[in-house]
Amino acid sequence: MTQLSFDVQLNPRARSAGEREEVLANPGFGQFFTDHMISIDWTEGRGWHDARLQPYGPLVLDPATSVFHYAQELFEGLKAYRQSGGSIVAFRPHANAARFNRSAARMAMPELPEDVFVQSLELLVQTDREWVPTTDGHSLYLRPFMIATQAALGVNHPSRTYKYMVIASPAASYFSGGVKPVSVWLSTEFTRAAPGGTGFAKCGGNYAAAFVAQRQAVQEGCDQVVWLDAFEHRWVEEMGGMNLFFVFGDRLVTPTLTGTLLPGITRDSILSIAAELGLRPEEGKISIEDWQSACESGELTEVFACGTAAVVTPVGSVKGADRGWAVGDGTPGPVTMKIREELVGIQYGFRPDTRDWIHKI
Ligand code: PMP
Repeated sequence: MTQLSFDVQLNPRARSAGEREEVLANPGFGQFFTDHMISIDWTEGRGWHDARLQPYGPLVLDPATSVFHYAQELFEGLKAYRQSGGSIVAFRPHANAARFNRSAARMAMPELPEDVFVQSLELLVQTDREWVPTTDGHSLYLRPFMIATQAALGVNHPSRTYKYMVIASPAASYFSGGVKPVSVWLSTEFTRAAPGGTGFAKCGGNYAAAFVAQRQAVQEGCDQVVWLDAFEHRWVEEMGGMNLFFVFGDRLVTPTLTGTLLPGITRDSILSIAAELGLRPEEGKISIEDWQSACESGELTEVFACGTAAVVTPVGSVKGADRGWAVGDGTPGPVTMKIREELVGIQYGFRPDTRDWIHKI
């Protein structure tokens, strides 16, 4: 078990209980940050060093720092939950650690030992534990990330230095007014990923290239973009920040991990619990024509998206350049809600954790 020794520097300007309560009353998402952050440096030939917990604050970086020019960057996203008994837990943090390292390998960045990744989350959450919301459905969103820090231009080799960091942000429930189906836009003009590219990696560049399509989705009156394959613009891949599931009676189908979509931890968890809920999970290929015709014939009754931020979100309608259709009757379906309740139940501790997914902090 690899552990690093962290230098701990507490924030002399940490906010008061009153200031914190004011933020926690209405945290939104990703707007407010806790009083501390984690930083660990990596240098070629030396490895990971200078692990510290320090006051949250700005970084000073040379303008030539390579992340600004070549986007050698990656990140993760997971949550700490306050369970009904008061304990604070994370959901499958080792799965995020493993995905972080798969992203790192693709981006020619150093891997961080999984235990150090989890240790860094534990230290930040323990220090800022008062920031883990007590309100039902709220959580503390954790954002580990890594940037290339060498101050030099040139694209012939990757950076020789990196910085790993973790910041934390209290998050309200994604659906303040109850679970509502979203409308989605089929993006045929833009593609997110192609074979051999970075689709499976959680690197910032994937998201930078996606904003224009998400903006187009909103201009088309939709909530979210759905990405299709790069060649035929026909096979469903995923949404902007969530994976997709299709419900055909008791068959639960999700696009196969082909390397062009992100292997969501929520997706993996749903595949694993589906059988227990009386469903037959399957990975496969879904075309937009099949999606439309199966909705029209009534064979496909529900479609939902899943991810850390919103857990499980029903998809209510689909629009593309030359087509549009409704999914189900526009209300959240029973399979979607059953899966959602099971996952939320495990995370908040009112359903048994039979798979050892809950990590006490
Ligand atoms: N796809 C994309 C593109 C994402 O950004 C995310 C969020 N990490 C997901 C899927 C869902 O992944 P997870 O269930 O691990 O949050």
